[in-house]
Amino acid sequence: MSKDVHIPYGTQNITDEDIKAVNDTLLSRYLTQGPGVESFESEFANVIGNPFCVATSSATSGLHLAYLSLGLKPGHTVWTTPNTFVATANAAKYIGAEVDFVDINPNSFCMSVKKLEEKLVQAKRDNCLPYIVTPVHFAGQSCNMKEIHKLSKKYNFKIVEDAAHAVGASYNNKKIGNCEFSDACVFSFHPVKIITTGEGGLVTFKSQDHYKFCQQALTHGITKDPEVMTRPPDGTWHYEMQFLGFNYRITDIQCALGLSQLKRLESNIRRREEIVTTYHKEFEGLPFNYQSPNSEARSSWHLFVILLENKKIRKELYDYLRSKNIYVQVHYIPVHTQPYYINLGFEWGDFPESENYYNRCLSLPMYHGLSNDDQDYVIKLIKDYFS
Ligand SMILES: *Cc1c(COP(=O)(O)O)cnc(C)c1O
Repeated sequence: MSKDVHIPYGTQNITDEDIKAVNDTLLSRYLTQGPGVESFESEFANVIGNPFCVATSSATSGLHLAYLSLGLKPGHTVWTTPNTFVATANAAKYIGAEVDFVDINPNSFCMSVKKLEEKLVQAKRDNCLPYIVTPVHFAGQSCNMKEIHKLSKKYNFKIVEDAAHAVGASYNNKKIGNCEFSDACVFSFHPVKIITTGEGGLVTFKSQDHYKFCQQALTHGITKDPEVMTRPPDGTWHYEMQFLGFNYRITDIQCALGLSQLKRLESNIRRREEIVTTYHKEFEGLPFNYQSPNSEARSSWHLFVILLENKKIRKELYDYLRSKNIYVQVHYIPVHTQPYYINLGFEWGDFPESENYYNRCLSLPMYHGLSNDDQDYVIKLIKDYFS
C-alpha cells in the first residue's frame, strides 16, 4: 500500500463519458434554462416512475420548495428525526415554521414509528399536531412508509420523504420517489451521495398542482404560460410574477452530468451491494452492529455504518483509521444538539436513542469506485484494531 493512500467514506465516480457530456453542454447554446434540465427530469421520472419531477440547485432548496409547495406556513410545525443532516430541519425554519423531532428506532437508525405514534397521541391532546412529517431514509434504506402513511391519514399531516441518501433505492417493490405513501420526496446529488451533479437536488410530488407550484417557485414565482396569466399578454415577451419565489434552478451543465451519471445508477448500487457483502463476511465475529434491514426495502447504500460498543471505542477506531488516511465519518450529530437548535429550547437528553447512536456510529468507506484493494486495506486495519 503506497503512502499517499486517501480513502474517503464516500466520493463521486466520474467517467470520460460524464466529462464529454459536460463538455458538450458547455459548447451548446444553453448553459442554464435549456433543454438539458428537462432531459434530466424526464429520465429521472422514467427511472423512478413518477412524472412530477423538479430538479433543483440542491436538496436543501428542494426541501424548502417541497415544504412551500405543500403549503407550510409560519406557525405550522414540521417533525423530522434528529439523525439527519441539518438541512431537513433548517428548510422548515426558512419558512418560519416550528421544528420538532421524533427519536429513532435504535435498530433501523430511522424515525421510530412507535415514537411517532406516541408523540402524535400527545400532540393531539395538546392541540399541536404537525403539518408535515419528514422521515429520512437513513443510509438509503426506506423508513416504514406504509405505517407512517396510515398515521398521516389518522392525524391529518402531510409527508415529505428526505431521500437524499436514497437515489435508486426501492420500497414495496417500487422506486423511492413515486410518492405512493407521501406527498413529496427530495433527493440530493451532492458528490458524496449516490449520483452527482456537483451540487443539485430533485423533488418529486404526488399531485400535479404541487408540482406546478414548485416549478414556478423555483424561478421567482414567474410563469410564462398564457393560460394561467391574470392579464392579457402585452406581447410574447410577457411573463407574470404571481408570488414570491426564488432562484433555485439547477443548470444544464449540472444536468448533463446527472443524466450521464443516471445511466450507471443500477451498476453503482450493485457495486455498493457487493461492498456490503464483503464487509459483512470479513467482519464476522467482530464486536459491532449494523443497521437492521427492512424486508420491504432495497437500500441504495449511501452509507455503511457500524455501531460500536461504546463512545470510547468509536473515538479510538475513528482516530486510528484517520491516522492511516481512511477518512471515516460520523453520521449524524443529532440536529437538536446543534447550538442553533439548543437556542430554540432543545436539550441534550431530549432524544436519547439518537444521542446513544451518535456516540457509537462510524461510517466506513462506501462508494461506487471503491477498489477491492482499498476495501481490503480498510478491513485489514479494522481487524488489526480489534486483535
Ligand atoms: C445531503 C443531505 C441533505 C442536503 O443535500 P444538499 O444537496 O447538500 O442540499 C439533506 N438531507 C440529508 C439527509 C442529506 O444527507
